[in-house]
Amino acid sequence: MDYKTNINFRKETLIKLLNAVITHEKEIIQALYDDFKKPAFEAVLTETSYVISELKDTIKNIKKWSKPKRVFPSILNFPSKDYIYKEPYGKVLIIAPWNYPFQLALCPLISAVAAGNQVVVKPSELTPKTSEIIAEIIAKVFDKTHVEVIEGGVEVSQKLLSERWDYIFFTGSVAVGKIVAKAAAENLTPVTLELGGKNPCIIDETANLKMAAKRIVWGKFMNAGQTCIAPDYILIQKDMKSHFIGYLKEEITKAYGKNPSESPDYARIVNTKNWQRLVDMIEPEKVIFGGQSDIKNCYIAPTLMEEPLPYSQVMKDEIFGPILPIIAYENETDIETVISRYEKSLALYLFTENHIFTKQMIQKYSFGGGCVNDTMVHFSNKRLPFGGVGHSGIGAYHGSLSFDVFSHRKSILKKSNFLDLPMRYAPYKDKLATIKTILKWL
Ligand code: NAD
Repeated sequence: MDYKTNINFRKETLIKLLNAVITHEKEIIQALYDDFKKPAFEAVLTETSYVISELKDTIKNIKKWSKPKRVFPSILNFPSKDYIYKEPYGKVLIIAPWNYPFQLALCPLISAVAAGNQVVVKPSELTPKTSEIIAEIIAKVFDKTHVEVIEGGVEVSQKLLSERWDYIFFTGSVAVGKIVAKAAAENLTPVTLELGGKNPCIIDETANLKMAAKRIVWGKFMNAGQTCIAPDYILIQKDMKSHFIGYLKEEITKAYGKNPSESPDYARIVNTKNWQRLVDMIEPEKVIFGGQSDIKNCYIAPTLMEEPLPYSQVMKDEIFGPILPIIAYENETDIETVISRYEKSLALYLFTENHIFTKQMIQKYSFGGGCVNDTMVHFSNKRLPFGGVGHSGIGAYHGSLSFDVFSHRKSILKKSNFLDLPMRYAPYKDKLATIKTILKWL
């Protein structure tokens, strides 16, 4: 098939995909709204325009990224020319989640296609309208033997995982990530696992509290908190807490009004199962703001909880919803006590003007990535690898790195015949001392 070897063919199909996404943008935005009332602004910012920009960037760079890269040879092999060739893995399976259902299915697909693979994508069944439009667009642009969308739920996913693949790219929960890793191990299939975690947000006494509140409210309540890199909980220096809570309340009201259920800018929880899971985390005696919910509309208000106990429901697992626990600390040992209860997070955010504290925190804790004095925006720089560590994921992608994720890097050394040093060949008699001297100088 052309896509395996012909870069121009891959580029042309990506141009077709770009045109199709642009043509269908309104329908995509509508599908996202129908699935869980994702506001149009967020749909454009985090889904369609992100995919469009990824497509443009890939189309622009595909030739450069796919070229064999010449590297410095080793003097031991003189004379030689050494290269890294990028080879498509072959058959790639992409399994996507529901929270950014368009972007998180399309972005890996774009890179897998650019790198020359055959691709099967399984979008999330929890966002059926978006899954449908993805299937429709892909069927229009690609031949089924090249890229295919297979819609369905857990059973479909499990059936796909029981097949043999050359690469699996999974985005979703830690629990399902483990299922994917086990299935992949059966055939030693390489995987990228983009998972989640409990992302701390640490605010020290030097932070600009008003700005911190504004940026945390933005990162936490966008998509109603259903973002893998949303701040999960806040650790704040104890003297700053009450002041900061005041700013948080102010910023939530500024963003979503007095009644966020009437705001066109506030998304809903994806389904009643997730709604119930979140409502069970809300302990009324700990709520200091919000707390209202309505199962009919899968609505949960932006909610602040003060000092939940370490083993309460809200502090157990990733929240993945619009509930924000606030915990005061006195010193760095307190910070460590909380963070060390959890597996390595996907993100960590620091709000501080103290460079020494910043350096210490970055060095001390292992996490996927993060920001100083902001939330989530590290995701938007294509030059920064995006991925987790430990339980928050394996591997990273974005920008040119995504192309590499879907390529096997094949090392090729091209040797010249004009010189053939006899040293390496047997019989080795009398050569040991000489080779030791040479190796010492290399
Ligand atoms: P999920 O793991 O429940 O589902 C993801 C995909 O796996 C879906 O397509 C689903 O059909 C499939 N699936 C579900 N159960 C399965 C099973 N038993 N066997 C095989 N396949 C199965 O995740 P979700 O609820 O869609 O998404 C939320 C999670 O994803 C959160 O934990 C969030 O942090 C994480 N996430 C991570 C990133 C990232 O980039 N790291 C991005 C978005 C979401």
